[in-house]
Amino acid sequence: MITKLTPDIIDQLISAELPDGDGDPVLLEVVTKNMIHGPCGALNPSSPCMSDGKCTKRYPRALVSETITGNDGYPLYRRRSTTDGGKSITLKVRNIDVEVDNRWVVPYSPLLSKTFKAHINVEYCNSVKSIKYICKYVNKGGDMAVFGVENRTRTIDEINQYQLGRYISSNEAIWRILSFQIHDRHPTVVHLAVHLENGQRVYFTAGNIRARAMSPPPTTLTAFFSLCNQDTFAKTLLYSEVPTYYRWNTSVKKFQRRIQGKAVEGHSGLYMTDALGRLYTVHPNNLECFYLRLLLINVRGPTSFEELRTVDGRVCATYHAACQELHLLENDAHWDISLADASNIARPRQIRSLFAIILTTCFPSNPKDLWEKYRDYMSEDILHRLRTTNQVPDIRFSPIVYNEALIEIEDMCLEIVNKALVQLGLPSPNRSINGRFNRDLQREPQFDDAEMGRSVQKNLPKLVTEQRIAYDRIMQAIKSKSGGLYFLDAPGGTGKTFLISIILAAIRSQNDTALAMASSGIAATLLEGGRTAHSTLKLPLNVQFTERPTCNITKNSGIGKILRSCTIIVWDECTMAHKKSLEALDRTLRDLRGNPGLLFGGALILLSGDFRQTLPVIPRSTPADELNACLKSSGLWLHVHKLSLKTNMRVQLRNEASADLFAKQLLDMGNGLMTVDQSTQCITLPADFCKITATADELIAKVFPNLPQNYKNLQWLGARAILAAKNIDVNAINFRIQNKVPGELKTYKSIDIVTSQDEEVNYPPEFLNSLDLPGMPPHVLSLKIGVPVILLRNINPPRLCNGTRLSVTKLMNNIIEATILNGKFMGEYVMLPRIPMIPTDLPFTFKRLQFPVRIAFAMTINKAQGQSLQVCGLNLENPCFSHGQLYVACSRVGRPEDLYVYAPDGKTRNIVYQNALL
Ligand SMILES: [Zn+2]
Repeated sequence: MITKLTPDIIDQLISAELPDGDGDPVLLEVVTKNMIHGPCGALNPSSPCMSDGKCTKRYPRALVSETITGNDGYPLYRRRSTTDGGKSITLKVRNIDVEVDNRWVVPYSPLLSKTFKAHINVEYCNSVKSIKYICKYVNKGGDMAVFGVENRTRTIDEINQYQLGRYISSNEAIWRILSFQIHDRHPTVVHLAVHLENGQRVYFTAGNIRARAMSPPPTTLTAFFSLCNQDTFAKTLLYSEVPTYYRWNTSVKKFQRRIQGKAVEGHSGLYMTDALGRLYTVHPNNLECFYLRLLLINVRGPTSFEELRTVDGRVCATYHAACQELHLLENDAHWDISLADASNIARPRQIRSLFAIILTTCFPSNPKDLWEKYRDYMSEDILHRLRTTNQVPDIRFSPIVYNEALIEIEDMCLEIVNKALVQLGLPSPNRSINGRFNRDLQREPQFDDAEMGRSVQKNLPKLVTEQRIAYDRIMQAIKSKSGGLYFLDAPGGTGKTFLISIILAAIRSQNDTALAMASSGIAATLLEGGRTAHSTLKLPLNVQFTERPTCNITKNSGIGKILRSCTIIVWDECTMAHKKSLEALDRTLRDLRGNPGLLFGGALILLSGDFRQTLPVIPRSTPADELNACLKSSGLWLHVHKLSLKTNMRVQLRNEASADLFAKQLLDMGNGLMTVDQSTQCITLPADFCKITATADELIAKVFPNLPQNYKNLQWLGARAILAAKNIDVNAINFRIQNKVPGELKTYKSIDIVTSQDEEVNYPPEFLNSLDLPGMPPHVLSLKIGVPVILLRNINPPRLCNGTRLSVTKLMNNIIEATILNGKFMGEYVMLPRIPMIPTDLPFTFKRLQFPVRIAFAMTINKAQGQSLQVCGLNLENPCFSHGQLYVACSRVGRPEDLYVYAPDGKTRNIVYQNALL
């Protein structure tokens, strides 16, 4: 139990099925005797579990062919039907033979059941919400029994007749009489007092009242201050870390150095244990005490209450003020100082886009004040332009100048969230004064028909046969207005984007509308006028938990009109989309187009992607969860027409022999056709497929040679990355590489808050800080100038998308300036503010205010999908764990000489779910 239990190994540890009696008759007997619920229901209506004609334990359970993780923290265990290889047994219930199958099995651990031959219900719990049961069962006590005492000779006394009794066996009775422990907790948890100065509870008697008032006994908090005064090592600690090294001596009320445990390196006479310190929680209504606690989890080695609220040598009047000074609190002034930071160094256009980002993603409470305070900085270039074009050097800032700036800001806001400034709390710019009035608010990008036509004429002859077949099929479908669902199956390098671009241009050249979307922001930037599917379709954030999701789009909205009238809807990288997203689009189109009986309301949908790549990411999932989420398991998939691209264009165009073999090997990998060693479940990477390195350090040296000299070259930096399957490896690699970069480290701590105040006591800030979630920036973000970072949100697409890589150029207190490393906007400088981010897959909601970036020397394979690299390193110390990961990682480059792999013994796991490929 030292290693964490992950969903994919549930089946190895917990079973809810009858074991194979031929293989293990002993286990079958134990399970038959102890682990069958009831049977109850119609078979046995008087079973004790029955209430109102229903089983309170929800038996019989549904048959499930694969274990899938449930929403409430409990998985739905695999319970195969008898037709699917499940077993059944015959039991006698009230003297009638009853056939019992896997629906009646209570989840158990084969190992524990065989060892103890008893009823032991074992459950996998993956949610904080189920933790309470650990404490519940310990305190539950022995079994209760209701029994009656009858004296038939006397009249009935109902009160006396029934008594409630607790059954205790002789063994348990002895155990309790001798006061043996009935449970044990490990590690030791030391509760640490939190109180304001002189705010602690003091107990006194009439006799000692004076003495107690003069010098109250120390609490763990005041003792911590005294300790920091005397012990230099303690000065380096947070309050919560003290119990690791010091024992709380309750009789003398002092922290004393531990004399047992592991010796601490570099400190003689200092020992550490695994004891944990936990601060009592404080409700946020108790304002000052709450902020004092927040300081205690952030400030090391304070020697007094006063020193605790001293920041940079200045004593703050309140703990609240000290938290503000230390940037530990979310604060309306935050956006103000961010803009102030930017005003000092950035050009007006950059400040305007920063302001647009703040307006659209950060929801400041005072947008108008911010605008008025910084509008001069945001309009300087406009003023300058007016002065030069009109040759009047003394024009001043005026409403006309500001109006021009507002129009530009509004254009950006429309592009980011499709909202006008009035909707964001700012005055609406007057577009009529300068003739831009009749611009459509929902701006479907304007395309030049003639230009589009010429591009089609030029590129059409370049299509190879299979591309041409796919092109003709789509054009035919458009011509016949037949609608329908098409899927373009296209592995990397087969010219998918090229083909889609011609289709889009052909439609647009005829003045028709084509809607181009992609599942990821990066893929969307590759399509002309492309946007992310999630934001375009206004899908619910937690689409996987919504029963029947629809797109939040009205008929008369801009996007509603486009969906009603467009000739084609293209959805690239569709393999990453959850099936419910496509189902939502289907429902919405049927409604918008007024054709409830027609697939997608009669619209033509072109999906494209590669099912050899990774499937939708479902947190804490099993393979069955991922398969169940992917488009192929949707009922809509039955209607799909498949088009395939197979010819590798790199090979076709450049006739590179190594690329040809490489492309074939990649496909074998993607299709799961590489030979797997049955004993290790590993494949051996072919010698001509990649360059194997001997160590993880050599991998870094190969991918980032001469880093201290090269890292300032953006082209060099943007062309390479190391990929790994797990976040933990990615973090470690990034840490190692960043250490090699010269320069000072700047650290930004996030501000983490539970969105509901009542939950604040259950999820204290130090717990929230400890969460390191995929897709979220870390609580402690440490960066150096020049390091590459990857953006984690679509904050200003297509420039700044989830997945855009940038190189850090300036690290200020409230703003990070960076330059874009890849794509169309390479070399542009942008300003990033801290933005609030709310993860959607936790059992509670909290908000992290942090710069939306992570270091990107290394990144996870899932994050790398859609990124193209010239040099790719792959660290497989921890092998890939999900469908398509190895294929995605290796296909970032086109030639074997650009792929460096560190895999122990050159072997690794290649996970392919054949069901996803069918
Ligand atoms: Zn029952």
